[in-house]
Amino acid sequence: MSRTPAPSSPTAAAPLVLRRARRAADRALCDIHLAEGRVTAVTPAAEPAAHPRADDAIDCAGRVVLPGFVEPHLHLDKAHLDAVRPNPDGTLAGAISVTAALKAGFTAEDVRARASRVLEDAVLNGTTLVRAHPDVDPVVGLLGVEVLAELRERYAAVVDLQVVAFPQEGVLRTPGTEALLRAALGKGADVVGGCTYQEETVADCRAQIRLVLDLAEEYGVPADLHADFGDDTEDPRYALAGYVAEETARRGLGGRVTLGHMTSPAALPRAERLRLAEALAAAGVAVVSLPATDLHLGGRGDEERPVRRGVARVRELWEAGVVTACSSNNIRNAFTPYGSADPLDTALLLAQTGHLSGADDLARVLRMVTDDAARVVGRADEYGVQAGARADLLVLDTTVPEDIVLDRPERAYVLKGGRVVARSTRTRTRTLLVP
Ligand SMILES: [Zn+2]
Repeated sequence: MSRTPAPSSPTAAAPLVLRRARRAADRALCDIHLAEGRVTAVTPAAEPAAHPRADDAIDCAGRVVLPGFVEPHLHLDKAHLDAVRPNPDGTLAGAISVTAALKAGFTAEDVRARASRVLEDAVLNGTTLVRAHPDVDPVVGLLGVEVLAELRERYAAVVDLQVVAFPQEGVLRTPGTEALLRAALGKGADVVGGCTYQEETVADCRAQIRLVLDLAEEYGVPADLHADFGDDTEDPRYALAGYVAEETARRGLGGRVTLGHMTSPAALPRAERLRLAEALAAAGVAVVSLPATDLHLGGRGDEERPVRRGVARVRELWEAGVVTACSSNNIRNAFTPYGSADPLDTALLLAQTGHLSGADDLARVLRMVTDDAARVVGRADEYGVQAGARADLLVLDTTVPEDIVLDRPERAYVLKGGRVVARSTRTRTRTLLVP
């Protein structure tokens, strides 16, 4: 694998045609015309003889073209720490405490190197937009936000980066954090984060939610909160999604509030779960499932009972009309000692653990890393493979759209703004010897 990300460049990409391409929903092949960073037209595929090989065309030969993947929830600043110090007990509390200790030693160089490694992997895997959640607290200050703002510029030609100011250590219980959140937003953080369970009392958790939504209104940015990340709702700090829905509806912030994790509602009685899902849908609150982390950290206390799955009940959210996405969350650290920043790995894991199968379910799961993830991060208007959309696309090495989540095919070409920014090929020889 070579890593040669294109440098950020203000020049527009030259016109390019993706010939004989297969859009996921179409049976007939098409030619996708790109110019000045946009899809300008999608036309029926011209006959092969009509387009000899040329510098301004890529022959997709029937392969599937998707819009670039979106990772709506990725902690770039904390990636690749597992080799430094792993989680002592596998729990969420253990992950937070070991990472808090490591954060004290973060340097800009260290964060830049680990974050860049993940961003480059993400692009090679077909991702063209990442919403990153760097920690903001008195220990690490604005280091993560500042480094990611720098990477947002450095990698602008290959991937869009949204920076969330994320108070991992809580806000009320960690004095100084509110001022740091304001400073981060003042310096250009794109989104205000929250960690709704990270306060001493339920009243303080609710106060944090109100404060985060106040900041969202004051600075005119979306809010993206970690919420209800437990095995169940026995501790009421892990049962606050309904309150977020109420506050979102009351303030008219629908479409601009997202909750990550949302595992504990899975343990509620069905009628309560459905009421909650309907409240989230009515309020316009989106949910991002983070199955690799949720499965790894969840159920750690289940010594005398079957280990709980710890994943959001995605089908019920779909049926209620909640906008849903899934994402990696962490890459190889105390929260998630796995991962390669590949949205298709996350999609398959979610399908396998969420009782999701068959053509309709798998198409919907694929949307959770494409169209629906774009809605979560507020970019649906310019997203897709149709005239007018940004030319952020990928050519997958498959002709069968229905099997993308199952096969996780090679990302043959990744395009950002109409320019090829990554290529991938794999040669494999398989021989079946039947006597
Ligand atoms: Zn997270």
